[in-house]
Amino acid sequence: MSETLAPGLYIVATPIGNLSDLTPHAARILTEADVIAVEDSRVTAKLLAHIGVRKSMTRYHDHNADKVRPHLIERMASEAVALVSDAGTPLISDPGFKLVRDARAAGRAIHTAPGPCAAIAALTLAGLPTDRFLFLGFLPSKAGARASAIAEVAAVKATLVLYESGPRLGAALEALHQGLGNREAAVAREISKKFEETVTGTLEELAARYADVPPKGEIVIVVGPPGEAAPAEEADVDAALKEAMSRLSPSRAAAEVAQKLGLPKRDVYERAQQLK
Ligand code: SAM
Repeated sequence: MSETLAPGLYIVATPIGNLSDLTPHAARILTEADVIAVEDSRVTAKLLAHIGVRKSMTRYHDHNADKVRPHLIERMASEAVALVSDAGTPLISDPGFKLVRDARAAGRAIHTAPGPCAAIAALTLAGLPTDRFLFLGFLPSKAGARASAIAEVAAVKATLVLYESGPRLGAALEALHQGLGNREAAVAREISKKFEETVTGTLEELAARYADVPPKGEIVIVVGPPGEAAPAEEADVDAALKEAMSRLSPSRAAAEVAQKLGLPKRDVYERAQQLK
């Protein structure tokens, strides 16, 4: 049993790239805990080797969590149980919330050692407003579900933060452009690693840049809030649509008008169908 840590659950954030980002507090807990609950023991073993620690690990991931959770909660009665994920802050697009919920319900002490989180790191790089932001995690991969998820947040007056993978980046940016209009955005890649890069531009520019060249590595997309301009009057939208539909199909006309007026394409397309 740990001689220095009181029994309970310790949520421990770990680096998202640069191992030096492990905080002294996190290193102390990982050194002194009785057991560490990990997603992948090979990943956490590398981190532990970096701080010269050999420690008992228990796997806790999406596929075994329901089975393992009661045992971990039992152990927390008399031992210090640390929870880490492969990288960053546990519970943020990673397992853990049910462990915290059930540990609290069982009366266990819960502590956190805050630290790196890709979403927050990307916000600091993007140069977009940070006073209000909405974290969306990963968008659905199927086009229809993805468009619906984007439409749900199109009116939210906040910066949006999303996790994404290289192969899906181009399609995600295009869907965001179609659903949100042409907002300012940033793609932060490989944060705190050797090939770290942040590219900024409008959603249209970024979608075009990554359309045919999927980048490697881990990615966060940050999208600025809707513009401050007064919303277009319904009559303006109708006039612009009628003009555009005299030249183009309803779908193309809606895309053009949505971009020109900074409106979600889906809404403008619905109006185009009514006017047709
Ligand atoms: N819990 C983690 C955190 O606190 O950021 C996130 C875990 S989630 C399963 C993994 C996703 O986070 C990646 O697919 C990527 O979108 C993002 N991510 C993690 N590390 C990153 C990095 N170094 N640079 C950019 N994005 C990163």
